[in-house]
Amino acid sequence: MNQTLQNWLAEQIQSLKDQHLYKVPRILQTPAGGRVRMDGREVVNLSSNNYLGLANHPKVRQAAIEAIEKWGVGAGAVRWIGGTMEVHDELERRLAQFKQVEAVLVFQSGFTANSGTIPTIMVEGDVIISDELNHASIIDGVRLSNAEYRKSEGWVYNHKDMDHLEQILKRANEKGFKKKMIVTDGVFSMDGDIAPLPTIVELAEKYDALVMVDDAHASGVLGKNGAGTTSHFNLYGRVDIQLGTLSKALGVMGGYIAGSALLKDYLINRGRPYLFSTAHPPMVAAALIAALDIMENDPEPMQRLWANAKWWKENLANLGFDTMGSETPITPVYCGDEAKAVQMEKMLWEEGVYALSICYPTVPRGKARIRTMPSAAHTEEDLAFALEAFRKVGEKLGVIGATAGQK
Ligand SMILES: *Cc1c(COP(=O)(O)O)cnc(C)c1O
Repeated sequence: MNQTLQNWLAEQIQSLKDQHLYKVPRILQTPAGGRVRMDGREVVNLSSNNYLGLANHPKVRQAAIEAIEKWGVGAGAVRWIGGTMEVHDELERRLAQFKQVEAVLVFQSGFTANSGTIPTIMVEGDVIISDELNHASIIDGVRLSNAEYRKSEGWVYNHKDMDHLEQILKRANEKGFKKKMIVTDGVFSMDGDIAPLPTIVELAEKYDALVMVDDAHASGVLGKNGAGTTSHFNLYGRVDIQLGTLSKALGVMGGYIAGSALLKDYLINRGRPYLFSTAHPPMVAAALIAALDIMENDPEPMQRLWANAKWWKENLANLGFDTMGSETPITPVYCGDEAKAVQMEKMLWEEGVYALSICYPTVPRGKARIRTMPSAAHTEEDLAFALEAFRKVGEKLGVIGATAGQK
């Protein structure tokens, strides 16, 4: 072992601990669900992206099992060198219909869809204009690009600030970039608020920019049958690049880019994760087709998701918690102080509730919170149980009544 490395690692870890950022993954001992066993404890899980409860749905499981019988467990190659099976192709056709776009290309994950698409499309001579709260995978994709994008050079706009975005677009036009991309989360992953997509699209049209929206947290949650923010705002045909994830509400694994046939064609030829990383196992594609069948034909899971989210938010607010203006099932519970949020997470765990604290620098300093996500997998009893734990712990820590103020 290189001692310089070992010393450096130890220092870094200590620094993370000092900042309340050190993480130890808990181990799940049951399938994903509303109530799970983790590290030997039965808990209500409020930290899962399994929005529709599809991760352990009998029909989705069955489709995966049948696909193993038919196709085996691995694709054996990257997509373009013989790793594309009929199920992969069928999934993309089904997703294109679902999204009402010309074409869809599936990547291994939402993360690789972002990191594989943004630098491929946006090149030298272009500019990328980002919301300051965009997801890490967008940021990594942007950093891989040879386009202009830096915050220090003024290409990042204040969160959802449309006047600021317009100023930046004007400046971009004056500088004469070839292509201009506005990129935003559809639903912001930490705060649960929704991007002002209609205004973004109008501004993009006015200033000849293209729009990319990352719908990881809108897939299965917003729009017709969960088709995302473009559907939610009825902006069909006006969003150039939509990213969806197959790992959250769809319950399995993967990410996709929805857009024009030309876009797909180009990404097949140039998207590095597509070209150089192996295709999904066929059972993943088959399970996703089954998940999509459920989303398109059974409105019940999405209705239950929203009913649970509404109940959870209303009851937290009634108790005096600040849920920070969230508009979607992602529900932050404001704590303020970092140490308090970390303590709250620990005490909730003792009460049988798994919900994680989110601290600086993931969110601004002094705006620490517990992030909760009710889902269709929760029963009324699960949520009532969790609410009682929040009441008890919130009272003890003096978090009830604490407010982040106007956002
Ligand atoms: C989770 C997430 C991703 C990554 O999706 P995976 O399929 O889990 O890789 C991308 N963007 C946003 C906004 C996310 O929340």
